[in-house]
Amino acid sequence: MPKCRNCGTIWTWGQTVCRLFTLGDSLTCPSCRQEQFMTMESRKKTSLFVFAAPLIMFISVAFGIDPFVSLALFLVSFLVIMGIYPFFIELTDERGPMW
Ligand SMILES: [Zn+2]
Repeated sequence: MPKCRNCGTIWTWGQTVCRLFTLGDSLTCPSCRQEQFMTMESRKKTSLFVFAAPLIMFISVAFGIDPFVSLALFLVSFLVIMGIYPFFIELTDERGPMW
């Protein structure tokens, strides 16, 4: 789970997911309200997840799997990805380069 570099608070799964849906590249700490940023390393890891769900759906469509099954696969993979995503996030208090 991500840990705030400023106050050392370890964010909960729910707090992390909520923050992922906010706009911008910074994540505000729920405890000290300081802006935190994802480290380059964790951005690299999580960028794979972002493509996984659409990729699974694309593959199932390409192989002629029933659209409803592909959609279900997409939703399931999306939920699984959201479930494990926060575990791969590491925080830094410095805004790094985007890539
Ligand atoms: Zn904090």
